[in-house]
Amino acid sequence: MSEPTDAAARRAIAPVICYPNETLPVPDLPLYAQAREGAVKVGEVTVSPRDAACFRVDAGQFFRISSVEGPQVGDLNLWNARDLSERFYSGKSRALHGTHLTTGERMWSCFPHLRPMATITSDTLDWYGMDTFGGSVHDVIGTRCDPYTGNLLSGAQYHHCCHSNLTRALADETGMTLNEAESHVHDVLNVFMCTGFTRDTGQYFMKASPVRPGDYLEFFAEIDLLGALSACPGGDCSAEHTSDVAVCYPLRVEVFAPQDGALEGWKSPATNGYDGSHGR
Ligand SMILES: [Zn+2]
Repeated sequence: MSEPTDAAARRAIAPVICYPNETLPVPDLPLYAQAREGAVKVGEVTVSPRDAACFRVDAGQFFRISSVEGPQVGDLNLWNARDLSERFYSGKSRALHGTHLTTGERMWSCFPHLRPMATITSDTLDWYGMDTFGGSVHDVIGTRCDPYTGNLLSGAQYHHCCHSNLTRALADETGMTLNEAESHVHDVLNVFMCTGFTRDTGQYFMKASPVRPGDYLEFFAEIDLLGALSACPGGDCSAEHTSDVAVCYPLRVEVFAPQDGALEGWKSPATNGYDGSHGR
């Protein structure tokens, strides 16, 4: 189409933020930091390369995802441990916080709950910021690598995509069939993954993760959580996923419990206050 005469003027209109987040409830990070100081480790799970594992975290505990042997990206799913229909809502978390999450930002749950499930309390990669390609770390813009898209694009039958890894892990943890478990798997927080959109074509890109052994992302559990983490077959996601080509490493999940009384004044957040009547 030919441009209208005022095309430049229309393009020059400044954007407005869709969801100004100044009125979001603010997490009490100093209280969380204080509680974390006396916390003791109560659990640890190692996620094998090209596989996933589940873990449980009580409300008021912390969990840390660490790089242990080499650069590796992780795909994280979270559910309310008491009601799997309440699960992480990647799209709304992106709308509220932006394309990538870091300290002080939260993983929000789906409708009709829409409450913080977990708050990021520590991120050793927060120095990365946004690079000149528009890339940053820990995104909520990707989905999770899956065998269906792989089949669509190349006809492959690959069984160790994050989607399948998460499905197997959830089935093993809960006793569900693979079919049942698959319906609970959802879009992820891409832990340690470095991604963005190309400026010219708007395509989703990935590049080698800056994560190194010793780096971690730590969370405060706002509600009782069942988590599943997949060590992506993309490894550090510098080249390709949905195959066995990339070098992959394990990831570690550790759970820490604060001392009794350390969270004085904190309450697990209530579900969303909308009355649910939808105008009827
Ligand atoms: Zn993956």
